[in-house]
Amino acid sequence: MSAPNILLNVNGIEVIYNHVILVLKGVSLQVPEGGIVALLGGNGAGKTTTLRAISNLLAGERGAVTKGSIALRGECIENLSPADLVQRGVVQVMEGRHCFAHLTIEENLLTGGYTRKNKAEVARNLEKVYSYFPCLKSRRTAQAAYTSGGEQQMCAIGRALMTNPSLVLLDEPSMGLAPQIVEELFGIVKDLNQKEGVTFLLAEQNTNMALQCADY
Ligand code: ATP
Repeated sequence: MSAPNILLNVNGIEVIYNHVILVLKGVSLQVPEGGIVALLGGNGAGKTTTLRAISNLLAGERGAVTKGSIALRGECIENLSPADLVQRGVVQVMEGRHCFAHLTIEENLLTGGYTRKNKAEVARNLEKVYSYFPCLKSRRTAQAAYTSGGEQQMCAIGRALMTNPSLVLLDEPSMGLAPQIVEELFGIVKDLNQKEGVTFLLAEQNTNMALQCADY
């Protein structure tokens, strides 16, 4: 069997917040195409910072990558904006879901298709999201603020899927959810990986669940 292609290569990065707070030093990792890689660690270990470095969301937190390199399919991506990265298929699902509270579930999902021009493709994508998350379909007209934590997490993942991503950076999806919901959620992640070929980099404190789902 041939070795899988490397989709993402993080090589010896250092991240500093506010010009002085050194948070990451010499962090390297690789994510193979079509894999699920888990990034494990407790509170404050630097998982979110690693994901933000990849998706280039550090600037909004007064952080910066000051050493090392990050490549997607061999191309350096450190200088690409988060929007450019979404166009290249890299999307982050942030810790804490961040659904638009006053929009319905369906409106939230459609915001994920904002950058896409082909309306028919967006409609097909929406149906695909509903096929993986049937509970979102039944709650499509509910305001996100009035849905459960599990539904909001599914909505946040569904919204990311609306960009038609190749790599999803998934930040602590299990946070604050009941074990049964976490299990259901991870099952869907595994399904998306196997059936749709979506690659995941998954930051988690829930080591047991993450390792059941991840290849690395
Ligand atoms: P958690 O599970 O709590 O989200 P984490 O592993 O994702 O933890 P990070 O959020 O990356 O960890 O935080 C790593 C360290 O960086 C922590 O010590 C945190 O206090 C610090 N940190 C995070 N964001 C900032 C910021 N904007 N400014 C300064 N320090 C920060």
